Amino acid sequence: MAEEKFTAIIIGAGPAGSTAAYLLAQAGLEVLLIEKGPTPGSKNMFGGRMYSHALNRIIPNFWEEAPVERPVVREVITFMTEDKSVSLVCQDEKWANQPYHSFTLLRAEFDAWLASKAEEAGALLACGVRVDDLLIDNGRVVGVRAGEDEMLADVVIAADGVNSLMAQKAGLRKELEPRQVATGVKEVIELPPEIISQRFQVSGNNGVAQLFVGSCTKGMQGGGFLYTNKNSISLGLVVKAAELQRSSYRLVDMMEDFKAHPHIAPLVEGGQVVEYSAHLVPEAGLEMMPRLYGDGILVTGDAAGFVLNLGYQVRGMDFAIASGEAAAKAVKEAKARNDFSQQTLRLYEDFLKQSFVLRDMEAYRQAPHFLENERLFGAYPDLATGLVSKMFTVDGTAPVHLLNKFMGQLKESRIGWLQLAGDALKGGRTL
Ligand SMILES: Cc1cc2nc3c(=O)[nH]c(=O)nc-3n(C[C@H](O)[C@H](O)[C@H](O)COP(=O)(O)OP(=O)(O)OC[C@H]3O[C@@H](n4cnc5c(N)ncnc54)[C@H](O)[C@@H]3O)c2cc1C
Repeated sequence: MAEEKFTAIIIGAGPAGSTAAYLLAQAGLEVLLIEKGPTPGSKNMFGGRMYSHALNRIIPNFWEEAPVERPVVREVITFMTEDKSVSLVCQDEKWANQPYHSFTLLRAEFDAWLASKAEEAGALLACGVRVDDLLIDNGRVVGVRAGEDEMLADVVIAADGVNSLMAQKAGLRKELEPRQVATGVKEVIELPPEIISQRFQVSGNNGVAQLFVGSCTKGMQGGGFLYTNKNSISLGLVVKAAELQRSSYRLVDMMEDFKAHPHIAPLVEGGQVVEYSAHLVPEAGLEMMPRLYGDGILVTGDAAGFVLNLGYQVRGMDFAIASGEAAAKAVKEAKARNDFSQQTLRLYEDFLKQSFVLRDMEAYRQAPHFLENERLFGAYPDLATGLVSKMFTVDGTAPVHLLNKFMGQLKESRIGWLQLAGDALKGGRTL
């Protein structure tokens, strides 16, 4: 039976949902934020780093009160084979200064904090409640059903993550296909803070973000990640779901191999695994973007496929927050016009275009296609590690100049000149 009516019901207290709830409640609207987990964030996982810009615009200097782990000051990209690795390291002092560029986070704490901001602003937060269905009247979404309870709203915001059953129920999106998503696994490995700072060569509470390409995914599309938290390391793998389905590998075994790799083993030595989680990541970019609005409904964050994985940058949190913000703007405008039909809610798409969300998704439209190139995950890590290893090898054999070393390694890694030139050009243009 329908009980109360809200201006907005938001499904999911992840970063997209809580941001929308916070901004709408701040504007004095009646907001219900529904989360199926026992607390916000309890069911959520990600690799480990949020770029700060989106949230800093909404809550300036949020890090002074938010449960962030470490500001990232050192970026590392590592190409690896079974027995070699070569890394590109970048440290930039400005990342360690305010406004901070990015932070490592643990979602259970961070999501709970962001949802509490929405509550403080006046939103009603209902945890441990799973929305089962949308209430639809004459093609217009008018509320939600959770078990026996029906709740009415002028507008529903689907912020229910990558699977978004709600966007599907509204007819805005089809079921996910394995080629559109990757599967991620992560371990949180506890270590004393001073050991983390020593091992990763950072001072104080500064942090490191490291991405891995190559043998960690057995040549399949995907990669590894490592983020340093205050007193733990987030370590994991992400592999394209369609490739994983076709292969005989199991992610759990790949994770064990990854941890045993000579590059990784010393970094996690003596650590204790305190958490293991798995989750899907939307990876097809704009190609998988659903219709973003309908009568009485908007779709935000992962539910809309707003994630960018460029191999050297993984972004979803800043997109989720900015799309939650754009949804809140559209709802405020709808409230002002007293029109929650798609005629007004279509403004959401305009706000997304004005923000970085659709601009960046559009700029990297071709990236998911480029990253399907299998050479990136086998032949190129082999080329990079083989060449650099040869540069540093002195064993009494006749000298070989760099160009010849490079040519020899190209051949060993089975990469043709034309392929190399084509991939370099395409990569430079798309990433
Ligand atoms: C392995 C992995 C690594 C990643 N690494 C990074 C990274 O390093 N940096 C980065 O920026 N992004 C990263 N991402 C992406 C990032 O996690 C997402 O883009 C972001 O969490 C999206 O936020 P969201 O609010 O849209 O969805 P979510 O965070 O998924 O939140 C959805 C919420 O909805 C709730 N919910 C779902 N269905 C219902 C229902 N029916 N009723 C009630 N509640 C419901 C869920 O419990 C959840 O709390 C990673 C993702 C994965 C999986």
